[in-house]
Amino acid sequence: MATGLPIRVRFAPSPTGFLHIGSARTALFNWLFARHNGGTYILRIDDTDEQRSTEESMREIYDSLKWLGLDWDEGAVVGGPYGPYVQSERGEIYRKYVQKLLDSDDAYYCYCTPQELTEMREKARAEGRSTLYDGRHRNLTETERRKFEAEGRKPVVRIKVPDESIVAADVILGESVTPPANLQDEIILKSNGSPLYNFTTVIDDYEMKVSHVIRGGDHINNTAKQLVIYRALGVEPPQFAHVPLVFDGKGEKLSKRRHGELVSVGKYREDGYLPEAMINYLVRLGWSYDDKQEIFSIDELIEKFEVERIGKSNVVFDVKKLQWLNKHYIMERDLSARTDAVIPFLQRDGLLEANSSPVQREWLEKIVESVGDRMTTLADITTQTGYFFTDDFEYDPKAIKRWWKKGDPLGTLQGIRDVIEKLETFGLEEAEAAIWEYTDKNNVKRVQVMQPLRVALTGQSFGPGLFEIIVLLGKEKTLARLDQAISYMKAGI
Ligand code: GLU
Repeated sequence: MATGLPIRVRFAPSPTGFLHIGSARTALFNWLFARHNGGTYILRIDDTDEQRSTEESMREIYDSLKWLGLDWDEGAVVGGPYGPYVQSERGEIYRKYVQKLLDSDDAYYCYCTPQELTEMREKARAEGRSTLYDGRHRNLTETERRKFEAEGRKPVVRIKVPDESIVAADVILGESVTPPANLQDEIILKSNGSPLYNFTTVIDDYEMKVSHVIRGGDHINNTAKQLVIYRALGVEPPQFAHVPLVFDGKGEKLSKRRHGELVSVGKYREDGYLPEAMINYLVRLGWSYDDKQEIFSIDELIEKFEVERIGKSNVVFDVKKLQWLNKHYIMERDLSARTDAVIPFLQRDGLLEANSSPVQREWLEKIVESVGDRMTTLADITTQTGYFFTDDFEYDPKAIKRWWKKGDPLGTLQGIRDVIEKLETFGLEEAEAAIWEYTDKNNVKRVQVMQPLRVALTGQSFGPGLFEIIVLLGKEKTLARLDQAISYMKAGI
């Protein structure tokens, strides 16, 4: 996919909400393509839809891209030689090109009224045509124009389509031919003076020297319209690559409207997914190296990424796979980095203060270590280890039913309490030896002691090794929790 020109690609999100998973994947493909080829990756903001574009959304998009590690070389915020990179600030540039096209007679003013357009639409429908505009104002005389102006009509500007097929080459999809019957003189400038997407995109891609346009397959129908504009301007278009769309398991296209937060990158971040898991997940939504390898580091992706290896077929979003990758990447971080990653979640959930002391840090690392590979997301830290940080936890009703209802749990907990109280050194081995001594002496099954005790200390019937828990809680807390459980039982459960 080489053009001989310097490689320059852009990601051009519309700031009308959070960063969509599918858009993040488009950004990633562009970024990887630029990094693989030593090219330039540009971030442009497509905010021509004034009503739906917001500052807040822009900020969220920047944040999500930064979180994913998709840094941009040129563009919004960072600037560059072809700025501004926010379309709403480029009005003058667009007007200049509209004028150029008007002057060269490749564009013209159209004064059609809404009623005329409705009639044309009905006619087109009756004739089974997809295009509607019949070109009636293509060749207005100066007198006709003046007459419409005098009536107070505000014109739009339309581009003239050529009377021949438009051939679009696509690196992923191959060649497609659009016959003249499927093309019409599209509006490039609305009557209120604002330019439209297909026009601004061409102008910006041209002005910003974009060599390759890699974007979502939902834009495939815009390519021919954009090629008409390139042709009118007399400039070479970039190479196009349309990436397959992402669907849910039921065959519905992933959309903000239908799927809400399920398709929001920010939400996955909040839910405790790691950026490296997300990147690895996104890249495999359509791209493959050899159909076997699933885990790729960023460096490996940069080395191996080729647009030609993006498939044509639509892809299905599978959250299970993302979870699997996230688990993998959580465990790939060493203990210290894993601890760093969970701290914000513990803080968010009110379990940890902002600044921890070195002693606390050591304790925290041991807690994280005790969880082993049981976290699917970083947010799981709270459900898995919350009881280490607060006494205010609930006894799981199922655990109560299973372990506090049979045998003599009250007697057992009281017995264990005495054993623990007598312990002078409070280490893993001492705790273990003392408890086994208790089970042997009283001839009770180990599990009949361990599980009621686990429920008393953690509220749950699963989790890290029990002796680890006891040591991490410390003597005082262990005793207090035993007392609490004993009172609970005495109160009559
Ligand atoms: N703003 C468009 C989008 O978000 C960009 C399309 C393009 O890359 O040309 O889909």
